[in-house]
Amino acid sequence: MAHAPELPEKYVCTACQTMHAGTVSARTDSGHQYDAPAKCGCCGETELVAEKNWPHFKQ
Ligand SMILES: [Zn+2]
Repeated sequence: MAHAPELPEKYVCTACQTMHAGTVSARTDSGHQYDAPAKCGCCGETELVAEKNWPHFKQ
């Protein structure tokens, strides 16, 4: 079975909508666990949502 390349979780800044790669917080059997960055590197906003949740967050 081919090993699928692992893509990092991505997070979107709620203020400037810049996308950031998640910070690796743990290793799991299936890859890595990601956490949102502590804050946006562009504007300093501390609220970042997972990319998959973004369409739901943005209403
Ligand atoms: Zn930002």
